[in-house]
Amino acid sequence: MNFVRIWKELNTEEVEKQLLLVEDLYGTCASCKKLGLNYLKDKICSSCGTTFKYIATTLNNPADIQKLLNRMKSNNIDLIMIERDDYKKAQAKDALKDLFKS
Ligand SMILES: [Zn+2]
Repeated sequence: MNFVRIWKELNTEEVEKQLLLVEDLYGTCASCKKLGLNYLKDKICSSCGTTFKYIATTLNNPADIQKLLNRMKSNNIDLIMIERDDYKKAQAKDALKDLFKS
């Protein structure tokens, strides 16, 4: 089996509430910004109680991202990997919309 990226319409505000942002093994809760969460162990944020559904990484190299995905797979971690750049762009778009709303 191989990893294939999927394009899907998501509500970035909803994603942010359930997102773990990781560098390599350790990451940050996107909701409360708690640091040092381990995506292999912390299914729930120890600070705000969020149950993580999505994961995004600051890694850019596809081979590194595949390694991360393989590690998740072998540890039965059932998180959905989203593309960080897409997420950031969508967030920026939302922020712009909010700006014009007010
Ligand atoms: Zn949190």
